[in-house]
Amino acid sequence: MTTPSTIAIDGPAASGKSTLGRRLADSLGYLFFDTGVMYRAVTWLALQRGVAISDESAVTALAEGTPIDVAPASRADGRACDVIIEGRDITWETRLPEVEANVSAVSAYAGVRRALSAQQRRIGQRGKVVMVGRDIGTVVLPEADLKIYLDASAEERARRRFDETRARGSETQLDEILSKVQERDHIDSTRAVAPLRAADDAVLLDSDSLSADEVFARVMELCGK
Ligand code: C5P
Repeated sequence: MTTPSTIAIDGPAASGKSTLGRRLADSLGYLFFDTGVMYRAVTWLALQRGVAISDESAVTALAEGTPIDVAPASRADGRACDVIIEGRDITWETRLPEVEANVSAVSAYAGVRRALSAQQRRIGQRGKVVMVGRDIGTVVLPEADLKIYLDASAEERARRRFDETRARGSETQLDEILSKVQERDHIDSTRAVAPLRAADDAVLLDSDSLSADEVFARVMELCGK
C-alpha cells in the first residue's frame, strides 16, 4: 500500500483534529496545514482595522487583498505554525476570544471562502500534506488520497477546551465554553457555502470513544504504517 500523499482531516471545533494532524504530519514528514488559522487571521485583521464583521464586502476585500503567510513554527511556545500578516506575527492573536466569537460569521462569507480556499488548494496540491479544517475533503481537496472526519460530542469538546484554557492560566466557565462551541458548530454546519460535513468517502472516527493514541494508531493503519 502506498502512503497517501494528501490527507484531509475535517470535523467540528475541538474534536482533536489539530493534535492528530500535527502528530501525523510529524510521523510522515509532511507539512501540517491548519486552515482555520487563515479564517482567524482575516477575522483578526477586520477587528484590528475596525471593519464591521457584518460588512461582507469590506471583510471579503480584506481576505482578497491581504496575503496571509502560514509558515512552520519558528518558536517552541506551543504554536503549530507561525501566522504572519504584513510582516507581523499574529499567531497568538488569532486565539483571542473576540476572534473566536466572530470567526464563524467571517468564514460564512462566500468571497472569503473563495479567496482562502484557492490559497489552501495551491498548497495542498503540492502533496505530502496533512490539511485540517471543515471543508478540506469536500471542497478544498476533494481528490485527497485519505479523508478523515473526526467527531466528538459537544460536551466532550467543551471539556477539552476548558482544560486547555485553564492550563494556559485563563479564567473560564465550562457552560460558557459549551454554549460557544455549540454556537460555532451551528453556524459552521448550517452555512450556505461549504458547510461542515463529512465527505461521502471519509473515514468517520469518534474521539468520544477513542483516546488520542487510539485515533492516531487507527489513522496510521489507514496510511499503511
Ligand atoms: O479550526 P478552528 O477552530 O481554528 O477554525 C476556526 C473557524 O474557522 C471555524 O469555526 C470555522 O468557522 C472556520 N473554518 C472554516 N473552514 C475551514 C477551517 C476553519 O470555515 N477549512
